Amino acid sequence: MNVRENLEAVLLRIEASAIKAGRSPESVRLVAVTKTKPVELIKAVTEAGQLDLGENRVQELMEKVDSLPEARWHLIGSLQRNKVKYIAPFIYLIHSVDSAELLAEISRRAVQNKRVIPCLLQINISGEAQKGGLEEDEAEKLLEEMEQFPGAEIRGLMGMAEFTDNEQVIREQFRRLRLASERYKPLEGERVKMRELSMGMSGDFEIAIAEGATLVRVGSSIFGGR
Ligand SMILES: *Cc1c(COP(=O)(O)O)cnc(C)c1O
Repeated sequence: MNVRENLEAVLLRIEASAIKAGRSPESVRLVAVTKTKPVELIKAVTEAGQLDLGENRVQELMEKVDSLPEARWHLIGSLQRNKVKYIAPFIYLIHSVDSAELLAEISRRAVQNKRVIPCLLQINISGEAQKGGLEEDEAEKLLEEMEQFPGAEIRGLMGMAEFTDNEQVIREQFRRLRLASERYKPLEGERVKMRELSMGMSGDFEIAIAEGATLVRVGSSIFGGR
């Protein structure tokens, strides 16, 4: 398996999907999901210029950071409050904020590190309990209370569609995320911007781009199955 060829193929598919949707290819950014993959394999993509990397577990991320100093690290999986302190000094974007308690801890650790940490609110768009994420009204409430979290900045929303062959169901769930983001627009302020929509994985990123994704999180199409 040639990781570099896979990366090029995914980038071409992203570009084609953006154009087909009447969007500029630069409006969609690839986050290469590196979980379970060794550093040697990951270097094949960073050396090709793919610097946005995503991990879903803090411990695994911490094992890789020193070997990949040029990377921009995205935390994409559910995050425990007691792990925030490890990533607070350097994390580029946390995609998976799903509670006020977590946001409070991110803010606290950000202030300690004299920075503001960019975050996305994860919304439960599939209705499946195991996918996690906030309900839309909970997210709205958080956005109204941002003065409580001076170390955090919300850049947009993240969601995961159901695992199903039914494209229409997937499309409707991604659309739901985009509509939520549009509904939250009036809440924009200094530390709330509805700019990013993190949605789409190996199986559904083309649908996500058609529905407005600005960040797609792709693992197995680049690095192979896990
Ligand atoms: C693993 C993972 C991905 C990537 O999944 P693939 O199907 O391998 O592309 C995307 N998002 C999250 C939150 C993940 O945990």
